[in-house]
Amino acid sequence: MSEKFSRVVVVTGGSKGIGRSVAARFASEKTAIIIVHYDPDDEAAGQTLAMIEAKGSLGEIHRIDVSSFSAVGTFFEDLIKRWQRIDVLVNNAGITRDRLLMRMSEADWDAVLAVNLKSVFNCSQAVVREMIRQRSGRIVNIASVSGQIGNVGQANYAASKAGIMGFTKTIAREVASRSITVNAVAPGFIDTEMTAVLPEKVKQKFVEQIPLGRMGTPEDVAEAVYWLCSEAAAYITGQVIHVNGGMYM
Ligand code: NAP
Repeated sequence: MSEKFSRVVVVTGGSKGIGRSVAARFASEKTAIIIVHYDPDDEAAGQTLAMIEAKGSLGEIHRIDVSSFSAVGTFFEDLIKRWQRIDVLVNNAGITRDRLLMRMSEADWDAVLAVNLKSVFNCSQAVVREMIRQRSGRIVNIASVSGQIGNVGQANYAASKAGIMGFTKTIAREVASRSITVNAVAPGFIDTEMTAVLPEKVKQKFVEQIPLGRMGTPEDVAEAVYWLCSEAAAYITGQVIHVNGGMYM
C-alpha cells in the first residue's frame, strides 16, 4: 500500500446516505476508501468519490450486488490482491420492502434478507482470512432499532437487523484472539433517502417517540462507526451501539 494512505476501508452502500457520511468521515484521515454500491446510475457514487478526493483521500467505486456470494468473493479477492491488506469493513448496504405480514410476498422477504443479512456473511467471510493474517481489523455492521423493538410493516427488515446483531456477537467471539473487533451500530430514525419516502405524518409520529426530539443525521451514525474503528475503541467488541436519540434504551 502507498505510504500516503493510512488504512484500506471498504464501505458497502457507500454511495449515499449513512454510507456516504461514513466514507466522508474516514476520508479526513487520508484513507483508501472503497465504495460498493449497486444502482447502475453512478451519479450518487460519483458525488461520494468527489467528496473523498476533495479531502485528500483515495476513492474507488465498484458496482457489486452484495447479496451475491460469488460476486462478493471475486471482488474481495481482487481487492486484497491489489491492496495487500484490508483494515476496515463497514457492512452498511441495506434496503426496505415494507408490507404487513399478511401482504408480504416471498420476494419481499427474500430480497431484504439477502441484501441486509446474507451480504454481511458474504463480505465478512471474504475479508476475515486477510484480517486474521494481519492480526488486526475492524468490522462494523449497520443494524437498526427495528431489529431491537420491531416495527409494523418491517417483519423482513427487523428480522434481518436482529440477525445482524447475533452474527456480530458470534464473529466477535470467533476472531477476538487475533485483535479483530466486530461491532454493530443500530441507528434509529435517520434522515436519508430510505426514510424520505415516508409520509410527513408518519415521520412526525416517529419523531414524537424520540427523546432528543429530532431525526438523526447520517453524520451522527458515521461518528459512532468511525470511533469503533479507532484505537480508542480497541477493547470494545461484540457490542451494539445505539445511535437513536433515546428512541430505544
Ligand atoms: P440509503 O440512503 O437507501 O442507501 C443504501 C445504500 O445501500 C446505497 O448506497 C445503495 O446503493 C446500497 N445498496 C442497496 N442495495 C445494494 C446491493 N444489493 N448491493 C450493494 N449495495 C446496495 O439507506 P441509508 O438510510 O443510508 O441506510 C444505510 C444502512 O443503515 C442500511 O443498512 C439501513 O438498513 C440502515 N439503517 C437506516 C436507518 C434510517 O433511518 N435511514 C435506520 C436504521 C438503519 P445503490 O443505490 O447504488 O444500490
